[in-house]
Amino acid sequence: MAWNIVIAGGGFGGLEAARRLERKLPHNSAQVTLVSDQNFMLYTPLLPGAAAGTLEPRHAVVPLREQLHHTHLRLGAVTGADPTAKLLHVTTGDGRQQELAYDHLIVSVGSVSRTLPIPGLAEHAVGMKTLPEAIALRNRLLQSLEVAEGIDDPGARAEWLTFVFVGAGYAGLEGLAELQDFATDLLDRYPRCRDQGVRFVLVEARDRVMPEIPASLADFAVRELKARGIEIRTGTTIDAMDACTATLAGGEVLPTRTVVWTAGVKPSPVVKRLGVPLDERSGRIVVDRALRVKGVEGVWAIGDAAHVPDPLNLERPAPPTAQHAIRQGRKVADNVILTLSDRKPRQFTYKTLGVFVDLGRGKAVASTVGLHWRGVPAWFIARTYHLGSMPGTTRKIRLVADWTVGLFFGRDGSELGRLGHPGRLDAPDQIALGDAGNGSGQSESALAPAEDDEKPAPGARDEDAASAPPMDTPVGGD
Ligand SMILES: Cc1cc2nc3c(=O)[nH]c(=O)nc-3n(C[C@H](O)[C@H](O)[C@H](O)COP(=O)(O)OP(=O)(O)OC[C@H]3O[C@@H](n4cnc5c(N)ncnc54)[C@H](O)[C@@H]3O)c2cc1C
Repeated sequence: MAWNIVIAGGGFGGLEAARRLERKLPHNSAQVTLVSDQNFMLYTPLLPGAAAGTLEPRHAVVPLREQLHHTHLRLGAVTGADPTAKLLHVTTGDGRQQELAYDHLIVSVGSVSRTLPIPGLAEHAVGMKTLPEAIALRNRLLQSLEVAEGIDDPGARAEWLTFVFVGAGYAGLEGLAELQDFATDLLDRYPRCRDQGVRFVLVEARDRVMPEIPASLADFAVRELKARGIEIRTGTTIDAMDACTATLAGGEVLPTRTVVWTAGVKPSPVVKRLGVPLDERSGRIVVDRALRVKGVEGVWAIGDAAHVPDPLNLERPAPPTAQHAIRQGRKVADNVILTLSDRKPRQFTYKTLGVFVDLGRGKAVASTVGLHWRGVPAWFIARTYHLGSMPGTTRKIRLVADWTVGLFFGRDGSELGRLGHPGRLDAPDQIALGDAGNGSGQSESALAPAEDDEKPAPGARDEDAASAPPMDTPVGGD
């Protein structure tokens, strides 16, 4: 093999770059290695559906080995790089340190939730960025209903039946809408909860929701959500939270056991250890219009981790969306190939195709190349789009099957919080209630596993994990 091409991160951008390289590189001309800390790509637009039980969480991911046939896949966490020696540092799943030599390195490590120094946030809020978080949210909702049903005092019950979402971008709005829809579906099975009702509150610092979509569509979404009884507090921030309350700016205290934090992202923390220049404001890797990292030979960066000049306005970075990451993945692969054959790389150009926001209950809003859609047609377009974008025929079939079963037979209300976390062999009578009582993802239950329970290996991930990591735990092995 003449060249070593290493891709760090197997998400939207990294997977697309690897697929493109496989297709376009002449046979045996280069070895392509993809390093990722999980062996699948998470199709994030399906996360709210996974949290709300409209699809099986495993069906929101694409196994990398199913998609890549000539790429060497290395499961491990990128921990740093030495661009002068052209080495990438990797910690493998079993804890070994390795150095990978490269001629070209494509960095596509994505982003993590951006937290703020709000008291209680890191300990008590749950994010909506990873599969464990989506599953934890689903379990939290089910556990909250179970616990609330057993409480006599309506005041005490209220904190289990109130769900606060912070951040009204499309991830927050979709998550809120889908989860509320799920809760409403379930209420018939919980007579006390049904009589009291569930309360969903959306808190947003800006004066409108979803600045990413036209105001008329955002207004439609707000009207639709308000009609379902969801409270929308724009121009408001959250000041503090603890295990059973969230305090808004101005002093209002919401009794709640669940605060979902969807207020923005920042680049994966490992970018700070790659020896590359970072944008002062966003912390993203500074690249030129051809996706080359400025001043560092042989290193390229794409996706949420990169500050790519937006082709529509070069002053600002391209938005952190999957659409952009995928197109940048294709472009970077083409540019690496051009560079290997001593040709000039080309500039990244792309115009957003459209935005979809699924509101649950068969409704959505969508904006596609100049056309605005709302209600059922928008929902249909959104589902068709995601089906088309999901890589692999078998993944598509699984998705259609889940959606169809859900439409005709409703959603599964079993709470599987202990899945993947069996009790000790020598203490089979210990049955834990999972993490409903504590946003940090650690059980407060008296029935929780003994303290000397074996902990998962550092960096280990589990699709079935019942609990989300604390908000200040970096995702991605940093
Ligand atoms: C709930 C939600 C809904 C969304 N909906 C949409 C939508 O509808 N449309 C849209 O366009 N965008 C959507 N997005 C945004 C989209 O998910 C991101 O813009 C996209 O994932 C960015 O792609 P990426 O390749 O840069 O990063 P990612 O897809 O996040 O991939 C990064 C990969 O790198 C891995 N990684 C990270 N750190 C390391 C490390 N140190 N070592 C090894 N591997 C590492 C990660 O595990 C991951 O596999 C949504 C996001 C969320 C959270």
